[in-house]
This record gives sequence, structure tokens and C-alpha cells, in this order.
Amino acid sequence: MARTLLRGRVLSFLDEPQALDDVASYRYWEDGEVEIEGGKIVSVGQFDGAQQANTTIIDHSGKLILPGLIDPHIHVPQMQVIGSYAANLLEWLNTYTFVEEQRFADEAHAARIAGRFFDELIRHGTTTAAAYCTVHPQSVDAFFSAAAERNMLMVGGKVMMDRNAPEALRDTAQSGYDDTKAGIARWHGQGRAHYAITPRFAITSTPEQMEMAETLAREYPDLHIQTHVDENLEEIAFARELFPNLPDYLGIYERYHLLGPKTLLGHCIHLTHRECEVLAETRSVAVWCPTSNLFIGSGLFDHDRLHAHGARIGIATDVGGGTSYSMLRTLDEGYKVLQLRGQRLNPLRAFYMMTLGNARAMSLDGRIGAIEVGRDADLVVLDARSTPQMALRMEAVDTLANELFLLQTCGDDRAVVETYVAGKPMKSRLPG
Ligand SMILES: [Zn+2]
Repeated sequence: MARTLLRGRVLSFLDEPQALDDVASYRYWEDGEVEIEGGKIVSVGQFDGAQQANTTIIDHSGKLILPGLIDPHIHVPQMQVIGSYAANLLEWLNTYTFVEEQRFADEAHAARIAGRFFDELIRHGTTTAAAYCTVHPQSVDAFFSAAAERNMLMVGGKVMMDRNAPEALRDTAQSGYDDTKAGIARWHGQGRAHYAITPRFAITSTPEQMEMAETLAREYPDLHIQTHVDENLEEIAFARELFPNLPDYLGIYERYHLLGPKTLLGHCIHLTHRECEVLAETRSVAVWCPTSNLFIGSGLFDHDRLHAHGARIGIATDVGGGTSYSMLRTLDEGYKVLQLRGQRLNPLRAFYMMTLGNARAMSLDGRIGAIEVGRDADLVVLDARSTPQMALRMEAVDTLANELFLLQTCGDDRAVVETYVAGKPMKSRLPG
């Protein structure tokens, strides 16, 4: 079988770096190679220069080769909502998002946006995401069809929402259940597709719908569950009003047995002590969305507090509440959020978080997130000299950690030289 060999500076994490000098947490080859066959990584190590028959060498010398970036929380139908001016979360949802999402009843619109969505992920070096579609089953079909065309490992699902949204965006407890079941049967396990049970958030689901989500979670215990929690104070007050007699917002999902190691909880900004403990005990994942939290004015994620509780943490864009598809921009904003909290985010940990850390958060670390033999060949090639100012700054950069920090602080899609999906170069094939 034909092989592809990528030459470059190969960096892959083994574990979460505890400090900048934690060299045991990663592997790095200054002149390295990654060999790919059949969409999988078949070898990684020092470049040896020996020419093999049937091997195409792609030379990325001087550039960093990393595992493809991973985004564990993003909304497909919000591509034309990003950068909308609003005072707060509920105004933003009602004025822009719930209006735009209605357009996804139209299959042609859903297909067009799904294609553009994956093009944008590839442009920014992201190879896997956990995505929310709309309430319409056709939005899920468009999403997974477009992912399959590109052979991308994607997690996604139809949002279940049967109240507190415009009529055109509401399902019912029964139809939300039926449509989710049909979506699972149609897509889950097809190629690289992973269906996620997706009650949007407690505010838009009746107790009857939450029971249906609970039933689905029981029927399909291996599936991801994704939702939102504790983003914004008004939202929390409204959710607690809708589900009285429960200890807190997270307690709603706990009540319906929706917490567990494959549950991705967007935001987790305003957590009580009990909620931190429940997150850790259930192994549920707090997904931090810094550009969104700053843009919507929701609050500053308390990384160290959750870390001290032993909670699992992912980091994501949350486009379109988030303001960039770039995981580099996301980690830059995350760094600034923690600066305001008096917490540190060193660049090794930041790059761990957007690769292996997010793969672990999504329980996909056996497949993606590291450059290891047997893993899927989802890779990104980064160039810290991608703009004139970065090239100038690089003249004074003398360590790998400082180069990563420059990439995170100043880099964006221009720093992404190439994105490989299951071994295929995809960014250079994008239109325009
Ligand atoms: Zn979100």
C-alpha cells in the first residue's frame, strides 16, 4: 500500500505538562518523520533519510507537526451569527441565534453551511469537533454527510428543545426522542461519525423531554451527551425556576442521569462547591469556552478550582457565541482569562489542552490527539513565522515553549500550513 511520509518538527504529548520544564510530558523530534498508511500513523521518530519504494515524502522541515486540533463545543448553525451585537446570552439567543437556526429547515441551506463549516475547521487546523446542529433532523444529515465527504471524525447531534424557543424551533418530547433515535441509527458508527444526545440546555427542555433524554442515555450508554450549564447568572436563575426543588443547575442534569464520563458540559462558569464535586465524581467534562465567555460577558472560568477538585476540563471555541474558529486564538483568550484570575497557563499545557487534553475530554484519546503508531493520521502543520511580525519576533525566540507561546498569542489560520485528515492533506485543497 502507498505510504506518505511527513518530515518536520514532530511534537506530541504523552500527558498533561505540570510545568514548563516537564520534558517527560511530551515527545519532540527536531528533524522528525511521521509515516502514514491507510489513514493511520504507522511510524513516528527521527527522520532517517532512507528512501522507501511506494513512499511519498512531503517536506515540512522547520515547521511543527502536531496532532490535529480538537474543538469539543461548537454550533454549526451559528456561522452567520458570529460577531452579533447583544447585551447578554438570552438576548443574543432570541435576537439572532433562534432566528438563524430556523433557516436550517431548508436542506439546501443546511448543506451549504455544513460544507462551509468543515472548510473553516480545516482552514484553522481543527480535525475533530463536538457540534450542535439545529432541531431539524435534516441539519444532522447535512452535518454528517459533509463530514463523511471529508472523512472527518466528528461528534454531533440534533438539539432537543421543546420550550422557550420560537415555535419553528421546537420539537416535542416524543419527536425529539424519535428523531434522535433515527439519527443514531442512521449515523452513529458510520465511518468516523459519533452521534451525541443533545438536549440544548435545561431552559429549552420540559421535564418530559429531559426524561426522554434520560431514556436515550440509558438505551445508548456509549454515546456522548452534550449540553450547557452555568454560563450566565440570568440563565441559571431561569433554569432553577423551571426545575424547582433541585439543589442547583447541574442538579437538573444529575436528576435525569445525564452526567457521566462522556458528558460534555459547555461553560461551567458559575459553579457551586457542590457542582464542582458532582462534576468530579461523575467524571463529566467541564468545557471552557473563553472567547464566548468574554464576548457574551458571561464570566471568567476558574480553571484551578476545577482542577483542584479533580474535574475533567476541555477547551473549545463555542462559535458563534465564541468569536474565532481558531484553537490558537481560543487558548490566547484562555490565557488572558486566567491572568485576570491570577492563574497561569503555560504554553506546553495550552498545546496539550488543544490536542491530547481535548481528545481525553472527549474519550477519543485511543483514536486521536497524539502522534502515536495506530492512531488516526489527523495532523496539523504550524508555522510560527506565518506573518511578518511573527517572523521578526521569532528571530528572538530560542526555545520550543516560547515558540508555542508566540503561536498561541499571535497565531491564527495563517499559521496553519496544512491540515491532514486521515492522512490526506485538506487545507491546500480548499477553494480560495
Ligand atoms: Zn454553546
